[in-house]
Amino acid sequence: MNDVEKDTRMTLENMSQMLKEAQDNKYAVGAFNILDYNSTKAVVQAAEDANAPVIIQTSAKTVIFWGCSAIICWVKELLSSSKVPIALHLDHCKDLQLIAECIKAGWSSVMIDASSKPFEENLALSRQVVEMARPKDVSVEAELGAIVGVEDDIHVKQQDAHLADPEQAIRFCAQVKPDCFAPAIGTAHGVYKGEPKIAYDRLEEIAAKTAIPIALHGGTGLADDVFKKCISLGCAKVNISTQLKYAFIDGFVAYHNAHNTEYNPLNVIDAQFNKLKAGIIEKINLFGSAGKA
Ligand SMILES: [Zn+2]
Repeated sequence: MNDVEKDTRMTLENMSQMLKEAQDNKYAVGAFNILDYNSTKAVVQAAEDANAPVIIQTSAKTVIFWGCSAIICWVKELLSSSKVPIALHLDHCKDLQLIAECIKAGWSSVMIDASSKPFEENLALSRQVVEMARPKDVSVEAELGAIVGVEDDIHVKQQDAHLADPEQAIRFCAQVKPDCFAPAIGTAHGVYKGEPKIAYDRLEEIAAKTAIPIALHGGTGLADDVFKKCISLGCAKVNISTQLKYAFIDGFVAYHNAHNTEYNPLNVIDAQFNKLKAGIIEKINLFGSAGKA
């Protein structure tokens, strides 16, 4: 690690320890996708208020939009007055170059998503990322199977979606040794059309046989009891992205509609922050991570 990396990482944690504790104690750490400084602040302050460990999650698109150094600046600024364990995690990334850039800039965790590749290739790429990340004390999430929906520039159609195979999952985890594993279990990215069909038996089998903390993708729109059941079966990380995209826009629009002659942007930003933070706290409470910092 160079000095810049050390400086940034002094206060960020990787996901490894926080997810192990969550797995052992049957709760889940929320991973919330941020969009800008205001939403990052909402994640950190929600975690502070709830005294919960939290994962600030960035899509590859958001990282490319702002650049690594801007995001690291916001996170460092917020960490300086924060006491809860916080990880900065790169969500679904297919690009090894971008993963390397994020690790160099100070991210404490990354996800390699090579799930669209044939099994052996996914395994090799995921291993390569673990070899890049582990010496820097950066945790790694890897995916197997195909999660339906749109996440960033990754589009998976219904007919192409398939659940992770338990035997392949065991081999994959034994060889890659990720800190967090994302098997496709029937959840979907984006907004659910109709009732989601979660393969609970598959989740239970994979979680038990791999013993790796499981990440639940496509969290937005799942019923409270679905979250609880998935967490009880081994999900230790829950991703929330789409819900925050809605809160981000709706928080802004609702305030403006209610005060449509007022042009005070700071009030609008504040309304957006409050909408985001309230939604995040609700999820932290539901996942059982409140008070676990
Ligand atoms: Zn996802």
